[in-house]
Amino acid sequence: MHLAVFEDTPLNDLNTLRLPARAKRYAEIHSAEQLLKLVRRGDLDGHRVAVLGGGSNVVLRSGVLDAFVLHISIPGHSLMNEVEDAWIVRAGAGVNWHEFVRFTLEQGWAGLENLSLIPGTVGAAPIQNIGAYGVELADRFFALEAVDLRSGQIVSLDKKTCQFAYRDSLFKQQAAGRFIITAVSFRLPKQWHAVTEYADVANELKQLGLTNPTPMDMSDAVMSIRSRKLPDPALLPNAGSFFKNPVVSAERFAELAVTWPKLPHHPQDDGSIKLAAGWLIEQAGWRGRSIGPAGMYDKQALVLVNHGGATGEDVLNLADSVRAAVVEKFGVVLEQEPVML
Ligand SMILES: Cc1cc2nc3c(=O)[nH]c(=O)nc-3n(C[C@H](O)[C@H](O)[C@H](O)COP(=O)(O)OP(=O)(O)OC[C@H]3O[C@@H](n4cnc5c(N)ncnc54)[C@H](O)[C@@H]3O)c2cc1C
Repeated sequence: MHLAVFEDTPLNDLNTLRLPARAKRYAEIHSAEQLLKLVRRGDLDGHRVAVLGGGSNVVLRSGVLDAFVLHISIPGHSLMNEVEDAWIVRAGAGVNWHEFVRFTLEQGWAGLENLSLIPGTVGAAPIQNIGAYGVELADRFFALEAVDLRSGQIVSLDKKTCQFAYRDSLFKQQAAGRFIITAVSFRLPKQWHAVTEYADVANELKQLGLTNPTPMDMSDAVMSIRSRKLPDPALLPNAGSFFKNPVVSAERFAELAVTWPKLPHHPQDDGSIKLAAGWLIEQAGWRGRSIGPAGMYDKQALVLVNHGGATGEDVLNLADSVRAAVVEKFGVVLEQEPVML
């Protein structure tokens, strides 16, 4: 497809919070070669580069974004290799994540089913190491290909290099803004077992009478749970969880548990304790509450929604108030999950 560069382009329909903003410069990228062409002929020189996938985890300030926005639409998926214990499957960065998950399941390649229905693209999935219902991208990741804006070369990065952690990776830390991901490959195990330890998943399977679920059953169950709990961005604009679940030391948790014995918590491998941000927000009185057109979703306090006409500033203002209320009540600081583009 032809490479075209546009000036002053609206981004309203390219972010799931439907925040109004414009890009100073904009191009849709359909292949790694197109991206390399832009880099090598110097088109990006002098510009801040902002990468956009499905726009489901970003907050845009209103006005003109002083950046060259690259909207990644690189298609395609294929079986790269079959080894004794796994299939190695590769997908272009612009492929819709959920469609890719279902594609793998239809081929009989299990492993991504718990990550069904997460919005966005394959290329964005490593950025925050997407996760849901006991599985995260890092568990199934093999390698990725990216254009390194520093060298102008295509590089391949393995799992260790990507430094995946809870909703975090190299790409949100020291290498922020350096790599544009063009393809991701996954290692999908032939020895499969259902990951059912999350109560929601276990209950759903029980209700459906599934004691021995197939990978497709798991995907269907996760889709039903998510459809009930989370607002569809097409109907009620949102960016999913607006805050990360905060992680505190065991000592801090013990102090909090004296006052809040019902505080939901998940012990981590390193001895720290992950708290449920949604519960903290609800207890601080913000479930279903709004400031102007931006509000915290009434069915799930962790999700910030745009009731119509909100700007990035409205969203950040609400987020500040919620954060302040949680600090005041619990002394715990919430960290924003969506990225400021
Ligand atoms: C209703 C809803 C539910 C959600 N549920 C979950 C969930 O369960 N678990 C979870 O982890 N997340 C969840 N999210 C967040 C979101 O779906 C993921 O973060 C997703 O990976 C974002 O993909 P995207 O293509 O929309 O990325 P964007 O929002 O376009 O971009 C997100 C970040 O990735 C960068 N980026 C995007 N593409 C590339 C690329 N090719 N190369 C380099 N950088 C890139 C952007 O610059 C930005 O920093 C949810 C969001 C919504 C709206």
